[in-house]
Amino acid sequence: MILGLELSRLARSNKDWHQLLELCAIFGTLLADADGLYDPTDYNDRLLLGLRGMMNEAELYILKGRMHEGRRNKAKRGELLNHPPMGYVRGSDGDYHLDPDEQVQWVVRLIFEVFEQQGSLHGLLRYLVAHDIRVPIRPHQGVNRGQLEWHRPNRMTLQNVLHHPIYAGAYRWGYRKIDPRKQQPGRPNTGKTVNPPASCEVLITDRFPAYLSWERFESIQQRLANNRSIAQAQGAPREGSSLLAGLLRCGRCGRRLAPAYSGKATRLRYTCMRATIDSGAPVCLSLSGAFLDDFVAAQLMAVLQPASLELSLAAEDALRAERSQWERQWQQRLERARYGAERAARQYHAVEPENRLVGRELERQWEEALRQEQHEQEAYARFCRDQPTELTWRERDAIRYLSQDLPGLWAAPETSAQDRQEIVRLLLEQVTVEVQGDSEQVDVTLHWAGGGQSQPRVIRPVARYEQLSTYPKFLSRIDQLRHDGRSFEQIAEHLNREDFYPPKRTDQFNGGMIARLLSRQGLHGPRPRAMVKADVLEPHEYWLSDVARELTLPRITLYKWQRLGWVRSRKVAEALGRLALWADDEERERLRQLRLYKRQWPEPRYPVTLTTPKAREEGKSR
Ligand SMILES: [Zn+2]
Repeated sequence: MILGLELSRLARSNKDWHQLLELCAIFGTLLADADGLYDPTDYNDRLLLGLRGMMNEAELYILKGRMHEGRRNKAKRGELLNHPPMGYVRGSDGDYHLDPDEQVQWVVRLIFEVFEQQGSLHGLLRYLVAHDIRVPIRPHQGVNRGQLEWHRPNRMTLQNVLHHPIYAGAYRWGYRKIDPRKQQPGRPNTGKTVNPPASCEVLITDRFPAYLSWERFESIQQRLANNRSIAQAQGAPREGSSLLAGLLRCGRCGRRLAPAYSGKATRLRYTCMRATIDSGAPVCLSLSGAFLDDFVAAQLMAVLQPASLELSLAAEDALRAERSQWERQWQQRLERARYGAERAARQYHAVEPENRLVGRELERQWEEALRQEQHEQEAYARFCRDQPTELTWRERDAIRYLSQDLPGLWAAPETSAQDRQEIVRLLLEQVTVEVQGDSEQVDVTLHWAGGGQSQPRVIRPVARYEQLSTYPKFLSRIDQLRHDGRSFEQIAEHLNREDFYPPKRTDQFNGGMIARLLSRQGLHGPRPRAMVKADVLEPHEYWLSDVARELTLPRITLYKWQRLGWVRSRKVAEALGRLALWADDEERERLRQLRLYKRQWPEPRYPVTLTTPKAREEGKSR
């Protein structure tokens, strides 16, 4: 027999309750409570037990529903409060008020200011740690409940502060809703989803005293969302030298271009890889990054230059404001230390001198407080030495000088890649690039912050001459110049004057570049000089360099063949002793065979049939 006060309370759901009835029926067990005795094998008893289970489940549901409704109503009035977050305390009226401690308020304000300055959570954390700033925590439980403690800042705390709308004075409820689909059985804390303030069930603005305006809060949320490392967000500024990472979009598919570095991070490329990564498609767009970064930097300088005087004044003001803020913060710290020491002294004096047990401990605490005060005073003295509140004339001059030389400041080694990215992000919202086919012409669209747009066309470096959009014009111009009897050097000079540019854009044309280009294209053709002297050659005679070109063979190899006697040749006296090779169709075919012949182990020599020249029928032979 199973005995209980209210048996149906054994189960929270009908499923469990019927399981129990089933088992009891199989093993012939009775059930009993204050109202009576039941036999689960009996039809009437079973019916009654089933009904009571059902009633109980319904009752539970109604109870829960009422409780939840009550909470919701309270939340809708903005009165359902839990623990006050950092910077707030619960007043005697049960509501939240700003923390009365001035230093606490200062630190909370500083967190938001520094985040706006640094632009990232990690930047904020680094700043706080570097300046030895601790965050004020009033524990919710334990012996020190409600007492102010100063803790080392950590990422999670700061993130919670930055995301919490209470600092803009808003009340929210339903921030962490439970999604039953994501819950795991037996783990009550699972299944929580995070809702932005706008999607919370209750959001009441201007409910609490605020640390910052709602607009500032929203811009901080936007900034945090942009910093996320997901495809839809810009991502935070990073260490890489790329200026436009996160801002650059592909003009073809609209996706983000990813920066890639090779060598010692000196060679930068922007590539649209998403389609390749996702579906194995060919790379959508890929272009060299340095020229684009330089171009955008030049545009920014042009925009900033007129404002350099204002910048210098603003920088001076900002520095002075920061210094005086630090000064205030130090005064607060010193005051706190002084108060601690005085309080410890008072406590020590209040105890009867005979009560040694307590007196000894209080004396130790007093000494500790005095030591702490001295430590703070020394740190303050150090601070004053390093950063006097008033700017020295030397510092003021440095600011004026630097702000006048913006490009110098931009390129200075002290300016980090993140600083530059920050500046770009202040002025530009997005940059779209589109390359015309495979050519050197790049259409850049700069979306300026505040809505303006400019669409300059930029020339990018490319790998090959053939990619240049001016290539056909370029070739015909070279042809023309050669027919005028110009040397390669002269051709190069002409091209430089006429605004043609080499594919890599690194320097100007020179004679060697033109020669290499033409020989690679097989366009070396008969030179003007050769054409003049062509009448000195006999039938089936060709200049050695022309034969080399026809066979696509280095000239030096052909000279070697000539030295070995593998071709018939003669020195032409009329052309200052240049070599002319004699080769009729059959001979030229043999030379072609010789060119294509691949020597292989175990026979390392060329076959004799291929290396023996045909006897020349008539005329001068070698
Ligand atoms: Zn693309």
